Amino acid sequence: MTITNQETATQTLTHFIGGEMIAGKSERFGKVYNPSTGEVTALCPLASREEVNEAVEIAQKAFPAWKNTSVAKRVEVIFNFRNLLVEKTDCLANIIGLENGKTISDAKGEVLRGIEAVDFALNAPHLLKGEYSINVGGKINSYSIKQPLGVVAAISPFNFPVMVPLAMTMMAVACGNAVILKPSERVPNSALFISELWKKAGLPDGIWTVINGDKEAVDTLLANPKVHAISFVGSTRVAEYVYHEGTRHNKRVAAFGGGKNHMVIMPDADLDQAVTAFLGAAYGSASQRCMAISVAMPVGKGTAEAFVEKLKTRVEELKVGAYDDADADFGAVISQESKETVIRYINESLSEGAQLCVDGRHPEINEKEKGYYLGATLLTGVTTEMKIYQDEVFGPARIVVGVNSLDEAIQLINDHEYGNGVTIFTENGAAARRFTEQIEVGMVGVNVPIPIPVGYHNFGGWKNSRFGEGQMFGPDTVRFFTKTKTISERWNDTKDIVNKTEFSFPSNQ
Ligand code: NAD
Repeated sequence: MTITNQETATQTLTHFIGGEMIAGKSERFGKVYNPSTGEVTALCPLASREEVNEAVEIAQKAFPAWKNTSVAKRVEVIFNFRNLLVEKTDCLANIIGLENGKTISDAKGEVLRGIEAVDFALNAPHLLKGEYSINVGGKINSYSIKQPLGVVAAISPFNFPVMVPLAMTMMAVACGNAVILKPSERVPNSALFISELWKKAGLPDGIWTVINGDKEAVDTLLANPKVHAISFVGSTRVAEYVYHEGTRHNKRVAAFGGGKNHMVIMPDADLDQAVTAFLGAAYGSASQRCMAISVAMPVGKGTAEAFVEKLKTRVEELKVGAYDDADADFGAVISQESKETVIRYINESLSEGAQLCVDGRHPEINEKEKGYYLGATLLTGVTTEMKIYQDEVFGPARIVVGVNSLDEAIQLINDHEYGNGVTIFTENGAAARRFTEQIEVGMVGVNVPIPIPVGYHNFGGWKNSRFGEGQMFGPDTVRFFTKTKTISERWNDTKDIVNKTEFSFPSNQ
């Protein structure tokens, strides 16, 4: 997987093309950091246009045989892959922690959720069944089949180095496509490790490719006519760009972007339950989740005071630490730049009148640690005009925005540019029903911390959280990675053959 650079002792990573780890030829590299220590651990090759196009050619050549492999055989390979993921969960969790900074227990949870996507792909034989109608008109039967697209690409973010690539690609492989993954250049080790598992599982060479790179690689995939679909997950700015560029090149594109997820706390909610739910959903993974709760929205002054009073001490108790510190609740953020951005948002909001309820800007960390640590910050008195309310803040600074009624909460959430996830805590079924019906958000929870759907339900946000109609997870992934062909056929008995031209629809006969 790696080539050791003797002079610098850093690892120089590779691509995975045609079933082999292949050294980069572009002579451009990105640095891979260990966010827990701030050290550079590896150099990631950044593919050139030529390298990406060569990889697409190799995938294209491998595609027909995989397409023609029976779905039962394809699923057998996926089953082997699943078992290897289970066997190597600890190893994978360690790789994730090292390059992403999240704690080992969080990373293991990520692998488990990734395996859910694998499990769902094992249903491909059932999900690929088409539709059949007999005798739609004079001796004619009509049926539709789902066929793979060919070479498809997935472009993934840093915050889930395993779960998101698996969610994006498993059904694509199961449906018979050849997949090219362009992982985040900040977390390339996880994708390369997964590639080794695919090889061991028996996936034919060329069906799974990892091309490491940056914008140049992405732009090449978007422009290459042999790439038929693009699944993208990342920031909204890039998601929108990928959607427009991909569709301009006549590809189908599902581009998932950022989020700003609210938790509404009604006056009748069980506050202890809501506080406990908020802690994990808001600060888990150092808040670097597209579905993290960013905003607590208590309804009524009394609810806000009681909620904040209970929450404050619990937030103060949260511990940030190295990815392998078993006592840490969450780890470092991904980079120094990210840390500075979060601090800037906090400082700006304070100058605009927000109040610091818990200050996590200077966490106590062992002096040896040069990682990108931020403690948990909680701000009250935040208004909807502040940038810290409007933007996705990808780090552990969370805010409380009070409202006077459920209607006001619904209005504010619907007015927000993002619509990824939302949740409400209440004991009132009628309030929950009104909320779930009226809210303009793709994934909605009632008394659950983060409403991420299970692997067999569709995942996808609304508004600026998703561009295009594709979904991650769930049955709609089959639709995204296949094209439907509808066949009408007539097999006449000899006695039925009439040499007469027909001018009306056969269904009328
Ligand atoms: P990012 O947008 O910086 O990067 C995502 C991918 O796009 C990477 O592979 C990167 O190499 C590539 N990329 C970056 N800039 C590009 C450019 N200018 N042109 C073409 N490609 C480019 O995102 P990130 O920081 O890695 O990930 C965090 C973001 O992802 C957050 O906004 C988070 O909410 C979002 N996210 C969304 C979901 C979801 O399901 N909606 C899931 C996970 C993460």
